[in-house]
Amino acid sequence: MAIECLAYELLQAYQDEVDDETMETWQPGRLIKELKEIDSLIESDRSISVGIEDISGQAAKVMHHLGTDARLTASWINKHWNTLGSYLHEPTIRQHKEGKLFIASDARPKIIEISKEIERILNSSLFATNFKVNISMKCPCGFQIQRTERLLRRDGKFTCANCKGVFGVEESDGVWKFFRMYHDFNCPKCDAKNKFPAEELQDQSRFSCKSCGAEVVVSRDWCVRLKEIP
Ligand SMILES: [Zn+2]
Ligand SMILES: [Zn+2]
Repeated sequence: MAIECLAYELLQAYQDEVDDETMETWQPGRLIKELKEIDSLIESDRSISVGIEDISGQAAKVMHHLGTDARLTASWINKHWNTLGSYLHEPTIRQHKEGKLFIASDARPKIIEISKEIERILNSSLFATNFKVNISMKCPCGFQIQRTERLLRRDGKFTCANCKGVFGVEESDGVWKFFRMYHDFNCPKCDAKNKFPAEELQDQSRFSCKSCGAEVVVSRDWCVRLKEIP
């Protein structure tokens, strides 16, 4: 539970940068791996110091150490979380047959080793720190959108939570600009080219052809297609 709590605590620090699916992930090792996509240094211990610069842009001469935020790694979590999990269950019939049973004298040193690492983390003076630059934009629908610069840089687009509109973003000279993106499709009935503002597509989203009025449905399917050979 301590391993899980540490992973979930970290997830909370990144919650406005992850999708809903990640928020529901319950395996702590997988979670850290997902968060690594956002912050590649998520598994590294970090010491934080602050100081006031005498000259802007030049490191301060006097720094005050705030503490260290120690982290578990995904591979460590996976290995030991599974070991601990195996102690909670009755060995399967196969494990019985193969003689792979719970042996207290083998488990004890492993548990001590695990608790030592957890203690190291819990003795930290800082927890789940996350430094980020937030960019704030006003969607044409009026909704105020907040995204981290890290996420905008990675995705090059964002979806408005209010109107579901999809917008592209680009940065020039430190200023972030956003622009509307468009979907286009050729009508399956009259072959006219249709273009409409991009929005988050749902299975069974409906559109009308601007030329012939035919109703078009978007569906998510398993489809076999010819693989293009270059
Ligand atoms: Zn919007
Ligand atoms: Zn049409």
